[in-house]
Amino acid sequence: MKKLLILGAGTGGTILANTLSRKLDLKQWDVTVIDKVVEHLYQPGFIFLPFRLYGYENRSDVTHPVKRHLPGGVNMVNADIRLIDHAGKKVETSAGVYSYDWLILALGCHVAPEEVEGLEESMGKNAFTFYTLEGSLALQKALEKMEKGKLTLNIAEMPIKCPVAPIEFIFLADYYFSKRGIRDKIEIEFVTPLAGAFTKPQASRALGEIARRKNIKITPNFDIQGVDHEKKVVNAFNGDSVEYDILASVPPNLGPQVIDESGLGDGAGYALTDEKTLKHKNVDNIYVLGDNTNVPTSKAGSVAHFEAEIVEENILREIDGKEPIAEFDGHSNCFIESGFHKALLIDFNYDTEPLPGTFPLPKVGPFSLLKESRLNHWGKMGFKQIYWNLLLSGHLPGDPLLPSNMSFTGKDISSLAPE
Ligand SMILES: Cc1cc2nc3c(=O)[nH]c(=O)nc-3n(C[C@H](O)[C@H](O)[C@H](O)COP(=O)(O)OP(=O)(O)OC[C@H]3O[C@@H](n4cnc5c(N)ncnc54)[C@H](O)[C@@H]3O)c2cc1C
Repeated sequence: MKKLLILGAGTGGTILANTLSRKLDLKQWDVTVIDKVVEHLYQPGFIFLPFRLYGYENRSDVTHPVKRHLPGGVNMVNADIRLIDHAGKKVETSAGVYSYDWLILALGCHVAPEEVEGLEESMGKNAFTFYTLEGSLALQKALEKMEKGKLTLNIAEMPIKCPVAPIEFIFLADYYFSKRGIRDKIEIEFVTPLAGAFTKPQASRALGEIARRKNIKITPNFDIQGVDHEKKVVNAFNGDSVEYDILASVPPNLGPQVIDESGLGDGAGYALTDEKTLKHKNVDNIYVLGDNTNVPTSKAGSVAHFEAEIVEENILREIDGKEPIAEFDGHSNCFIESGFHKALLIDFNYDTEPLPGTFPLPKVGPFSLLKESRLNHWGKMGFKQIYWNLLLSGHLPGDPLLPSNMSFTGKDISSLAPE
């Protein structure tokens, strides 16, 4: 028996377990997935839980058992991965050692509040993170008690998962306090190390404009030094500080330590990945996808989904003794909730920033790019069912509607002209 080992049963690992087990002859291939958790998290739901919005209230609204989305014929091992011995082609775990012929790394990334002075001690007192399920639910309780004062959101450093989630959170906070009739008693500030609301200029301008309209202050270029929960301030290295009553924190995001300890990482737990083929840069027989890569695009579920198609094609070619030729272009696609039943949509890649226009079809859309619409909001709402029922099983239709590489169809490229 030949062995395919998939590390991580989150978005990327689950998609590939499904698609590859359909393509490989399971009489000749043993496909095993290893993950330390038994609950699959729908992380896009974490931005709604703190506000009890749109039917997101409890843990059960964003979780399914991992096994429910893995196909029959694939082995699931519930264990902590401790070392990847790529020379010996084996993986050491808390449940024993597993050898492989081909290995897929889909281990994601996690928040690391301990990287910022004072942040870990502040957590659960007056600082919370909606980047974890537990944090999101704790923030729900804290916000329910908030009647007046200041809600500050801080992004500690980049890169983070879903870089639009913080601005979505802050727009939803504006909506939440408006619904409760106390928006005029709550100050909202968005504090970021970036030069604006997002990583890319056109989207940053569009989102910054919406923030201004909603009376949300954006404080850019903030290089965090630490958090003092007693004084209720976030301090920057240059001596600036921002006050808060409740801090919604996005701590530094790191890849798993086991990646660096196994000699496969960049020092921050992200696997060194060829940005086109998605093969490990230095080691044969290993592919990487999702948040665990170090490729220069967003860490998003949509990206993990597009990358899965590239990895599937390349790994099957290599198994057949051919060169990996499929090339990823960094395609990312994300709805951005802006409150009051509206959302924007962005679609971009390594080289092209989010542009205005319509998606996926020219003129008719139905979704609008870089512009608020109700249809975009319903797209985001519908995505949860698509995620559970089509995306994880690898049945989401690709070309021509949702190709793994970005299409210019419907995009207004005239806005790319120099100003
Ligand atoms: C608040 C928030 C909002 C988001 N919103 C969106 C959105 O609107 N749209 C979008 O496209 N994306 C969104 N995302 C991002 C999206 O959820 C992730 O990019 C996606 O889930 C990444 O998939 P992955 O397979 O790379 O990692 P994950 O799905 O995180 O899976 C990684 C798996 O590896 C396992 N693992 C890690 N280390 C070990 C170890 N040592 N041993 C065993 N198992 C291990 C973990 O338990 C986990 O199950 C959001 C994320 C957050 C936090």
